[in-house]
Amino acid sequence: MKLSEIGEFGFIDRVSALFKDLSLPEYIGIGDDCAIIPYNEEEDYVVTTDLLIEDIHFFKDLIGPEQLGYKSLAVNLSDVAAMGARPIGSFLSIGIHSDTELAYLDLFLKGYRQLSKKYHVPLLGGDTTQSGKQFVINVVVIGTCRKGEARLRSMAQNKDSICVTGHLGDSAGGLEALLRKLSQTELTKTLIRRHNLPEPHVSEGLWLAQHEGVHAMMDISDGISSDLSHILRTSEKSAIVDLNKIPVSDELKKVAVSQAWDLDKLVTSGGEDYVLLCTIKDGSFEEVSMGFREAFDRNLFQIGEIVVGGSGINWVKNGKKVSFNQHGFDHFSV
Ligand SMILES: [Mg+2]
Repeated sequence: MKLSEIGEFGFIDRVSALFKDLSLPEYIGIGDDCAIIPYNEEEDYVVTTDLLIEDIHFFKDLIGPEQLGYKSLAVNLSDVAAMGARPIGSFLSIGIHSDTELAYLDLFLKGYRQLSKKYHVPLLGGDTTQSGKQFVINVVVIGTCRKGEARLRSMAQNKDSICVTGHLGDSAGGLEALLRKLSQTELTKTLIRRHNLPEPHVSEGLWLAQHEGVHAMMDISDGISSDLSHILRTSEKSAIVDLNKIPVSDELKKVAVSQAWDLDKLVTSGGEDYVLLCTIKDGSFEEVSMGFREAFDRNLFQIGEIVVGGSGINWVKNGKKVSFNQHGFDHFSV
């Protein structure tokens, strides 16, 4: 059997099953944005790691070294934010060809440092090694949170509001603009910046985790249709999501119209937005969203509801059910 037949998640399930008996009951391992390790009476550690390979996860002609350094850390900080935890340190390992210009690496580290400084996350170690042609980047970030208060994907409850902390689809729009070599306008430049310099919602995650009414949380890295499915599977629930309520930036709307892009497909399947997806207790959304607006001067968006029964995500648009497949949404009601 080939790996492609079971896919990434099928492979992760096999790994998880193989090592399950070695885990301790108070540990949380594979299956969430971070692993959780008990620290002391008051706090837990959270740990995440991510691997980026040139020509698979990034292309040197589409992202500059400074942006790549920034983004390599950003995607990991986003996973720590998704637990409602505070990042306390990072480790950076790189595999690189010895012919690489030092100036390229200096810029890479400059970008990595810029984001490290912003959230006061020191670089604590790592490894460097010679690689073949491709630049390989591995980052580990460690964080802390109050004991037992990390937000897991499995915590969604019936009737919870499903919320996101920012616009969806901008990053996918930026990637499309890069791949299609669209002319650089203010609009496309904004989308490309969102793709190459994602801003992890660290402060938002910490803020949300202070509220009891905030149940499940994760970050949007693969696109909401895939990411929300993880919450639903682990929480054993289903969801209704209103496509009309998914927040989309004016920039993306305008570019999508001019390029005749399928906006619904882009905002639900496009990944790498690195905003947070959370579920909030029935009746608590108003209070939490009001506090969120005061704290961050922008909205927390409610896009749907967790329900019991049925399976997966039930999409609604203009008050009617719509179905979703690999080609996008079938706008005929089902
Ligand atoms: Mg994640």
